Amino acid sequence: MLDTKNALKKISKFKAKNIFLQIPEGLKTQALEMVSALEKEGLEVFISVDPCYGACDLRDHEAKALGCDVILHVGHSDYGLKSRIPVIYEEFEMNYDPVPLLKNFLHDLKPYNKISLVTTVQFLSSLGHAKKFLQKRGKRVFIGSSKRGKAGQVLGCDFSAAKSLERVVDCFLFMGSGTFHPLGLAMEMKKPVFFLDFEGSQLLSLKDEKRRMENIRLMQIEKAKSCKNFGVLGSTKPGQMRVRTAEGVKERLSELGKNSWILVADEITPEKLLGLQIDCLVNTACPRLREDSRFFKKPILEPRDVEKLSE
Ligand code: SF4
Repeated sequence: MLDTKNALKKISKFKAKNIFLQIPEGLKTQALEMVSALEKEGLEVFISVDPCYGACDLRDHEAKALGCDVILHVGHSDYGLKSRIPVIYEEFEMNYDPVPLLKNFLHDLKPYNKISLVTTVQFLSSLGHAKKFLQKRGKRVFIGSSKRGKAGQVLGCDFSAAKSLERVVDCFLFMGSGTFHPLGLAMEMKKPVFFLDFEGSQLLSLKDEKRRMENIRLMQIEKAKSCKNFGVLGSTKPGQMRVRTAEGVKERLSELGKNSWILVADEITPEKLLGLQIDCLVNTACPRLREDSRFFKKPILEPRDVEKLSE
C-alpha cells in the first residue's frame, strides 16, 4: 500500500497546499484512497491521469500552470531532473523476500561465483535478502552504484549499476517482474544475464531471447538500408529530451544520403505518425518504445544503429 503518512510528512515540510499528483498505471487503483487522505488534511490535489512510466516524465509545466506548490511523484526515484517547483518522490516498495524462490534455482547459478544483483526501484529491499542468502552459499555478491538511481537499481535507459561491474562479475541476476528491464540489461551486457521472475516464479536465462532480439535488430538495420525517408523520434518529456542526439542522428543520416525529419511528441504512438511518408524510424526517446515496435509497422533503429547503415 502507498505510504500516505510518509507523503504527508514530506508535504508538510514544504507547507504546500496544492498538490500535483503523478502516479504510474500500476498504482492508480490506490490513487483515490491516497488523495482522499490528503484532502482530509486540507490539501487540494490534481491527479495527472497521463501515463507516467518514470521520473523522466516530470510534468512541472502543467503543475505550475495549475498553481500547484509541489509535485507528488509516486512510484519512481529521483532521476536527477531540475524542476520549476519542488518534487516529492514517494517510492513504492514491494517488500518482497526473493529467498524462497531463489532457493529453487540455486543449482542454475552453480557455475557462477561472482554475481551482480540488480532490480527496479520497487524491489530494492529484495537485494539485501538475496545478497545474504547467496553469500551464505559461498557466492561473492556485488551491488553496483547507479548514475540515475540507487545502488543496484536499473532503469530501462540506465544500466550503470550493472555496467560498473561488468569486468568484475561472472553473471548478472535481475530480480523483479516484467521483461522490459531484464531484456534491456541482457542486450547491454556481454556476461550472462539471469532473470528471477517474481510473477512467473521462475529463473530464466536470457541467452536465447537476447540472440533473438539481436537477430531482429540486425534484420531491422538491413531493412533500413533501403529506406529513404527517416523520422527521428524525440519526446518532449523533460527527462527524455535528447535534442543533440536527435540532431546528430539527422546530420549523420543526411551524410548517408537519407532524408530525415525530427518528430516530437509527449507520448509517441503510431497514430501520431499517420500521414507522414516515413519508411524508417530512429528512436532517441524512451527505449520502452521497442515494446510497441510491431504497431509502427516500420523498422525502428536505435541511434547507435545508424552507423551500421553504411556497412
Ligand atoms: S526514459 Fe523510459 S526507461 Fe528511462 S526512466 Fe524514463 S520511462 Fe524509464
